[in-house]
Amino acid sequence: MTTIRYPESNDLRELVRFCENDGTIWLGESRMLLMHTAALGALRKELIQSVGPDHTRRILTRMGYASGVRDAEIAKRIRGNLSLQDAFFTGPQLHMLEGIVRVTPIRLEMDIASGHFDGEFLWENSWEEEVHMKDFGQSTEPVCWSQIGYASGYTSAFMGKFILFKETECLACGHNACRIVGKPLEEWEDASEHATYFQSDSMLNHLIELRNQVDYLRTTITQNTLTPQLVGVSKGFKQAQDLINKASRTSVTVLLLGETGVGKERFARALHQDSERRQGPFVAVNCAALPHDLIESELFGVEKGAFTGAQQSRLGKFERADGGTLFLDEVGELPLAAQAKLLRVIQEGEIERLGDDRTRKINVRLVAATNVDLSRAVREGKFRSDLFYRLNVYPVTIPPLRERMTDIQPLVDAMLARFCALHEKRVQGVTDKTLQALKNYPWPGNIRELENVIERGVILAPQDGWIELEHLFANIAAPEQSSSAISASGSLQADASPEGSAAIIEAVMASGLSLEQLESALLDEAVKRTSGNLAGAARLLGLTRPQLQYRLKRKEDD
Ligand SMILES: [Zn+2]
Repeated sequence: MTTIRYPESNDLRELVRFCENDGTIWLGESRMLLMHTAALGALRKELIQSVGPDHTRRILTRMGYASGVRDAEIAKRIRGNLSLQDAFFTGPQLHMLEGIVRVTPIRLEMDIASGHFDGEFLWENSWEEEVHMKDFGQSTEPVCWSQIGYASGYTSAFMGKFILFKETECLACGHNACRIVGKPLEEWEDASEHATYFQSDSMLNHLIELRNQVDYLRTTITQNTLTPQLVGVSKGFKQAQDLINKASRTSVTVLLLGETGVGKERFARALHQDSERRQGPFVAVNCAALPHDLIESELFGVEKGAFTGAQQSRLGKFERADGGTLFLDEVGELPLAAQAKLLRVIQEGEIERLGDDRTRKINVRLVAATNVDLSRAVREGKFRSDLFYRLNVYPVTIPPLRERMTDIQPLVDAMLARFCALHEKRVQGVTDKTLQALKNYPWPGNIRELENVIERGVILAPQDGWIELEHLFANIAAPEQSSSAISASGSLQADASPEGSAAIIEAVMASGLSLEQLESALLDEAVKRTSGNLAGAARLLGLTRPQLQYRLKRKEDD
């Protein structure tokens, strides 16, 4: 039998980035951990002792499976142009790079179109076998559970059908090594016995099923009311939500404060939905968007013949909101004349249409919102102080997004659900790296800006794929960070990309080389690497061929 060789693993090693200053390690877009096997071993031991070996095996198998599925995505992305076998070897090679186990291929036949798979691999240095032997000694059953999960998850995702791996031998059972064989599930006689370890526990299934039903009912209700839920877990968000909840049981006038885009209208809608007025109308007006000369007729209505052009009587927003809630956004932009009328409406609970001397009783809960400092506007004479005191009975401040970064994840989840439904798209979520970038960005445009970014991400991400950094707007790029990569020998080296150039400059300065010596050494190295191909050497150095020749000649002349 011919030995099966792995392709070069440079492409995989280059995906590993150590960002010490950030406290992060990356494999492509996935955040990784460098973690003590002793710690993971202790967790495994405690699991076995508390929930028993069967449940532990299931949990670890599924953990490994999830990890294998992620790595299969890397294989598809970066080895799509290699042969099927070399692309597939991404999995075993990553399993080694990740420090899990040494994998030697013994036999591999695969064909994606027909779904045929038959693979056999030898495992050495299995971490799971090592910790198991240390804690429990020899076993009658194979013990490399998470690794079997990985092999099955990786191969299943790669092949697009369930491929079950089994340990036919395990070091922990007294064999010389661990040996694994993978075939489509249906080709195993004891398939059902093994497949159960890949399924989540039936009790959990039941709970998940119930939760899904609740989610379904909740979204149905949400869709019916067309009200996006208020989403957040942060302290600042919870405080605001709590104030809104309390106000909903009364008819107090509420003033919502906060920057543009923090979701003031959403809070106002939530207040309306939770109140006894929920069957009544919710009317929203953006005071800044109305032309000044139309504000009064828009708000309070017009009686036929009130002015030239008023050929018909028209209801104002207040009358339209009768029995419900009127939301006046950017109330600070109202001109002084309209402010005076608004004050009277609040005080008297009745309105007068333009060109009409009749008053009409109205029953409206008012919610006002502003992103300007109204008390300052009062001092500057731009806002009536008596109106300010009327509106400022129950102020609720909604903090900007950058002050509640813990809300990013739940907001993103909710937005993904909404935009996927809207654009009839399925995406898996955002990658770890994307999430980190989202959390590092200051969000001047708040929730609205996040919504735009996520909607764009949903549109750009491939069907069933992940939203990656490149699908976001350019201004939410990954934060500049110095990182290190690992060389073939396993040592850490500063990155040679632009962000790593500071480290290179540092090294050159410390070396004591003169600029000429450095240039000369670089020219020699480039020529050597390209075996004297000057065009190739010039490309390596970012020069044209004549520029390179000129420099080489100058060097010889010296
Ligand atoms: Zn084993």
